[in-house]
Amino acid sequence: MTDLRITGVQVIDLRFPTSRESIGSDAVNKDPDYSAAYCILETNHGLRGFGLTFTCGHGNELCCDAIRYLARYVKDRTLSSITDDLAAFSRQLTGDTQFRWLGPEKGVIHLATAALINAVWDLYSRAENKPLWQLLAEMEPERIASVIDFHYINDALTRDEAIALLKERRAGQEDRLEHLRANGLLAYTTSVGWIGFSDEKISRLCDEALAAGWTHFKLKVGGDPADDRRRARMVREKIGPSHRLMMDANQKWDVEEAILRTRELQQFDPWWMEEPTSPDDVLGHARIRREVPGVRIATGEHCQNRILFKQFMQAHAIDVCQIDSCRLAGVNENIAVILLAAKFGIPVCPHAGGVGLCEYVQHLAAFDYLRVSASLENRVVEFVDHLHEHFVDPVRIRRGHYLLPEQPGYSIEIYPETLRDYSYPDGRIWRS
Ligand SMILES: [Mg+2]
Repeated sequence: MTDLRITGVQVIDLRFPTSRESIGSDAVNKDPDYSAAYCILETNHGLRGFGLTFTCGHGNELCCDAIRYLARYVKDRTLSSITDDLAAFSRQLTGDTQFRWLGPEKGVIHLATAALINAVWDLYSRAENKPLWQLLAEMEPERIASVIDFHYINDALTRDEAIALLKERRAGQEDRLEHLRANGLLAYTTSVGWIGFSDEKISRLCDEALAAGWTHFKLKVGGDPADDRRRARMVREKIGPSHRLMMDANQKWDVEEAILRTRELQQFDPWWMEEPTSPDDVLGHARIRREVPGVRIATGEHCQNRILFKQFMQAHAIDVCQIDSCRLAGVNENIAVILLAAKFGIPVCPHAGGVGLCEYVQHLAAFDYLRVSASLENRVVEFVDHLHEHFVDPVRIRRGHYLLPEQPGYSIEIYPETLRDYSYPDGRIWRS
């Protein structure tokens, strides 16, 4: 399909009224309506590419507007003219001279960039008739490195180092693939512990998750200290000492408060403390990590680009790297961060949930294991059990593991009825 040409880009503002049941609620985001700025690449062959970026409500329309503007970089182009040099394509979007002032490479315009770049990768995988993880896993090291924009990170990771690492880690790839096909990717559940849930509901959800085979659980903290302790004690007692309990403060605390509160919660043996403070505070994270030894520090879902991830790693500020499939500028920049993490020896545990993030990150985690880290140690992928029914190729979970996706693409196509009913503000759900 060398003449496959992108003829149009549809952009849809999709929102789900999750705030009505406190789904997704945490110490900072009290009433999120899980939303997707969604785009569809139309082509001259009937094949379509799908992409989205995730937000929590009203900001979604800003992302939709930004996608409409950036769509000029894909419209009327052949797919091959983009995929021949994917790093150049990424730089075109992030370097637009009329738009770059809003970032650079952060915020609304970066989220919008992610939707389009991911849509191109979805279309590319479909044209190759492979799930995205497989398309990536079968690439030559030089080809993988060619999709990365090394600008601003080559003081920490050069192209040659990336290629050497990819070559070295190739050994054993077939065995790892066999393992993934048989076992899937280890996941953890965040669905049990939203901050807006009652104790009874958390207790019941823990029972259900244990019965379904989950071994890793996450609790939202950052509320009233006594409430946090009570909830942490309850979940720890429910799941027992051998299962893993992660805690997530969603950026609630100042640095010194984070140190005190994390120490206080240490008695419940958290496997990590996530987003203890501002996602931009590299040195603050480093201090928290130094002053609360024994609790691993995690962040990344709001880490705006590869440059900031580089700094977190250079400053020894994190133990767990939580890439986000559409906070970073799509597949390309995620590959850059996965390689940076491998160089610094930091496990990647992707952020997921929201809408479509689980569908996305399973591909990135599989690629990481197959081609980059070659390890499962301390690696676990977030799972949240909401809104999967809207996807044509939803995640499949078995006993707390993601099963490898099998259909071509990036698993992000949403059913037409959902696009109709949940579009904002005219869809059926929002008119009622
Ligand atoms: Mg989080």
